Amino acid sequence: MSSNIIVKRICNYCKNVFDAKTIKTKYCSHTCNRKDYKLNQKLQKIERSDTETKLKVSESVVDVNSRDFLTVKEASTLLRMSSKTVYRLIEQKELNAFNFSVRKTLIRRKDIDSYFESNLISNDYVNPNRENITPDNSYTINEAVTIFNISNGALYNIIKKHNIPKKTHGKHTLVRKEDLNKIFNTQYE
Ligand SMILES: [Zn+2]
Repeated sequence: MSSNIIVKRICNYCKNVFDAKTIKTKYCSHTCNRKDYKLNQKLQKIERSDTETKLKVSESVVDVNSRDFLTVKEASTLLRMSSKTVYRLIEQKELNAFNFSVRKTLIRRKDIDSYFESNLISNDYVNPNRENITPDNSYTINEAVTIFNISNGALYNIIKKHNIPKKTHGKHTLVRKEDLNKIFNTQYE
């Protein structure tokens, strides 16, 4: 014999109160059940594709940072220039590159760093006062390396060359955001 219990439930999909025939019933109707199922499928699909995209993006960043040789396209991303500009720099011998074939030009990561350094404008005024370096107004070296997409060595050279004040804070070395932003922004103009 089927049970005659009637339970008041809230439909998982339309949120209306309905009389459920069993305590396990989750939906007021077959329609709501199906719609909720479809919605979940869709959400899962979106989530999956989000995760994949994130993975791809982080893989390519790690990839570019760990390789010694970069394509013109990759170099242009790092230098925040168009590929055309990068080709022009190569042609004018401002940026060192290797032509392996007509279609294969590779640039050493090292050369990108040195191009970067040699083109910094050297007379930016940097506040020499070390006293007002605080964790709030500063980047740690690690943060700056990531933000400005530069190697540790290149960053230290820039700090030295521009006499940028730095301060030790616990295990970190701090450099004022203002000072680095000033230097790196002028670079791209
Ligand atoms: Zn419903």
